[in-house]
Amino acid sequence: MPVSSPYRLVDIDHALHTILAHSPLLPVESVSLAAALGRVLAADVAAPVNVPPFPAAAKDGYAVIAADTSRRRQVLGEQMAGRVGDLTVVPGAAVQITTGAAIPPGADAVIMVEQTTPQGDWVEIESAVAAGNEIRPVGEDIAAGEALLPAGATLGPAEIGLLAAVGLAQAPVYRRPRVAILSTGDELREPGEALLPGQIYDSNRFSLAAAVAQAGGAPAPVGIAIDSSAALGQALLAALADHDALLTSGGVSMGKLDLLKPILEAHGQVHFGRVMMKPGKPVTFATVQGKPIFALPGFPVSALVSFELFVRPALRQMQGDRGWRRPRLQVTLAHDLEHDAHRTEYQRAAIYVEAGRFLARSTGHQGSGRLLSMVGANALLELPPGSGHLSAGSVVSALLLQAIGD
Ligand code: AMP
Ligand code: MG
Repeated sequence: MPVSSPYRLVDIDHALHTILAHSPLLPVESVSLAAALGRVLAADVAAPVNVPPFPAAAKDGYAVIAADTSRRRQVLGEQMAGRVGDLTVVPGAAVQITTGAAIPPGADAVIMVEQTTPQGDWVEIESAVAAGNEIRPVGEDIAAGEALLPAGATLGPAEIGLLAAVGLAQAPVYRRPRVAILSTGDELREPGEALLPGQIYDSNRFSLAAAVAQAGGAPAPVGIAIDSSAALGQALLAALADHDALLTSGGVSMGKLDLLKPILEAHGQVHFGRVMMKPGKPVTFATVQGKPIFALPGFPVSALVSFELFVRPALRQMQGDRGWRRPRLQVTLAHDLEHDAHRTEYQRAAIYVEAGRFLARSTGHQGSGRLLSMVGANALLELPPGSGHLSAGSVVSALLLQAIGD
């Protein structure tokens, strides 16, 4: 009898839904605006004040009375942005004003400087203006009480600017998931050390830490665990103590020292242990002490592809983001492609635009260990099972990971 895994092969959607059902929303914290970029808002925000809070000049010029017909007006003085004097505009007079300054009492219009000719203490007005001309009324940009941002919004430059514009110095956001990252394997060494026979450098801990940070999480690399049940069990419990989730790589396939699944079973619940996909078939998901544990395969590409499909959505959801889905594009293959006939295969590709169409070019040899196949890739082609061969010109679906260049 050939050796077979005790774990049922689940499909990709089932795996994702299982993960999302066990990835709890994190508590809310308050952060300063300087630390708010990329965070997800935890409450609706309405404007506490009007912007502008006072009628403000929209142009540099003179504050005047619109109904005043005198061609020459006496300039009573100036009112600059941020300074409010005690000047009142009366018929036959004007007050010089700069953009953003409060309109002085008496005035009901601003005439821009380009339509005036200054003559000492007097100014000549070239043309009549209507009441309200070049005045930004109270609340023109934002009205007090107006809904500004909904809970769930990801804070980018405009959102952060809006919060500042209405005087809010802090934003309520969901905490970032603190994710422990553990590499497993006797063969792994730290970059910078010399390799002994049979050893390789640990790359997953670094690629996965970067991926966690890009997904808005706080990566906490906790080292390399050797292939021993005791070491793995200890590392697992230690990592869980002060993190929201654990990400491991290696030790989940069918080798003699792939020890992780039984350890996860012993400490918690394994929800699935294999997924019908390529690469990433041995990806395993468990919960221990109510916290999600993503046990990713060891091969560097398998680890990153399964991170993209399963871990990133979970980390986004934990920090309150409901819009975590990647855009899906229909793309045309620029050349023939071989793919797995039985499992959905995610191939790394560069999408580009040619003659108004999205074309896809493979990044080359798609081996699970060949991290270079992810370099220069801005998309994962989703190739469902089939004949195993796709001809140039076939249209396939692609998950867009990064911007499309020229
Ligand atoms: P495993 O699933 O532990 O059998 O690992 C599968 C393959 O991935 C083996 O060739 C490992 O040497 C390799 N591998 C496991 N962990 C890492 C890692 N952290 N960095 C680079 N390669 C790894
Ligand atoms: Mg291993």
